[in-house]
Amino acid sequence: MSKDLTELTVAEALQGLENKDFTSVEITKAHLEAMENSRSLNAYITETPEIALKQAKESDKKRASGDARPLEGIPVGIKDLFCTKDVKTTAASKIIGNFVPKYESTVTQKMFDDGCVMLGKLNLDEFAMGSSNTTSHFGNVINPWKEKESDKDLVPGGSSGGSASAVAAGLCLAATGTDTGGSIRQPASFCGVTGIKPTYGRCSRYGIVAFASSLDQAGVFAKNTEDCAIMLKSMSGFDPMDSTSADIEVPDFTNALTGDIKGLKIGIPKEYKVDGMSEEIANLWDKGIEYMKDAGAEIVDISLPHTKYALATYYILAPAEASSNLARYDGVRYGLRVEGSSLDETYEKTRAEGFGDEVKRRILIGAYVLSAGYYDAYYVKAQKVRRLISNDFRRAYEKCDVILTPTTPSAAFAIGEKQDDPIAMYLNDVFTVPSSLAGLPAMSVPAGLSSKGLPLGLQIIGKAWDEATVLKAGDVIEKAACFSAKPSKIIRAA
Ligand code: GLN
Repeated sequence: MSKDLTELTVAEALQGLENKDFTSVEITKAHLEAMENSRSLNAYITETPEIALKQAKESDKKRASGDARPLEGIPVGIKDLFCTKDVKTTAASKIIGNFVPKYESTVTQKMFDDGCVMLGKLNLDEFAMGSSNTTSHFGNVINPWKEKESDKDLVPGGSSGGSASAVAAGLCLAATGTDTGGSIRQPASFCGVTGIKPTYGRCSRYGIVAFASSLDQAGVFAKNTEDCAIMLKSMSGFDPMDSTSADIEVPDFTNALTGDIKGLKIGIPKEYKVDGMSEEIANLWDKGIEYMKDAGAEIVDISLPHTKYALATYYILAPAEASSNLARYDGVRYGLRVEGSSLDETYEKTRAEGFGDEVKRRILIGAYVLSAGYYDAYYVKAQKVRRLISNDFRRAYEKCDVILTPTTPSAAFAIGEKQDDPIAMYLNDVFTVPSSLAGLPAMSVPAGLSSKGLPLGLQIIGKAWDEATVLKAGDVIEKAACFSAKPSKIIRAA
């Protein structure tokens, strides 16, 4: 094999396993070794080599006896927000303590039922709140990319920063993520990998630690669109354990990757041309439009008039739901408990010590917007605006099939930057939040490099349940952009 096993795509690995070029144990060992050599990225909170090798051995046996399942022997990383049976699950928070779930999340169960091998649990922002993976109780995740001629460490994006960094650095073939307001797409863009958040309800939320339940959605990171299509098929589907999961058939997404987008209508929303958009992001977007035109698609100008309210709406609704979801961490039933002289004091001490600053900020904002005096002015108002934002998309899709925008307003930034300015941090989500509020599928594909040599992503937003067209368009951009640059900080096994 000329290619390092950690450089394979999922599709190549499946083919190689089938051809007996290598075994799952070999690919798994290669990844475990890469993980050991790249601990400085802090991508994993928990490594599970024993489980991985056991699963890989079983997988090799299954394949040898002709019983290979769709993802037989593929080593993956799991965002540490997914409960994994008998394996510590932290949500990157101190308050969860040493929680070891007695059950498996539906998404991970589906992946294991299809033959995936678990390498470990990936780092994230605490409770998935953040855009830089600097709020984890287990430390910052480092982006394997560096700016040209600079050695400073960059953020991988968030909240699924461990997932993005690990896929970019070859520390797993694919990884799960969750996306509430951009947590798959933004880190995918920052780390030069591909990530898709499907339609709300496509993947079950059962067993995923809740942040904002009406927005949280599982999805996947991989090296390219084809791999995303393969993985998403496995993760998706109706689950009676999640009342918001949809009983809608899951197509074979890889069938959509025909490269044929002739006549496809691509919407370009004028409101995303925000004031002060950097030239390199504007150029990237133009390039994406050219790729689409060259492939025979039709470009349509559209308007999403309520876009400017999306961030404010999100940062009312997400904290409101978070404050309610996180009320359960009280030192009585889960995780950390700091004893006080009364029950109230025990609650106070536990929560004061167990939650980090950003989580506390969200709980306070959430409690405030839900409080009797402000409920109508903030929470109810935001719900109404959310509907208007959804309606914008519905109207736009009368004129187009998918929407093309940049994924983020900038490339990855340095660790510590924007840390003291929550509003600047929240602006990272300006292009990803509207589709989250509308529950629509959206993906980011790497489409170019910034002037400083960092990856930049383009976002494709689709109609509800139409991940297939999103993936089809993403695949065309990805191939046209020929994105082949690699991060500098991949430390290969000797
Ligand atoms: N960055 C956004 C936030 O901090 C999105 C997080 C997410 O999608 N989980 O809320």
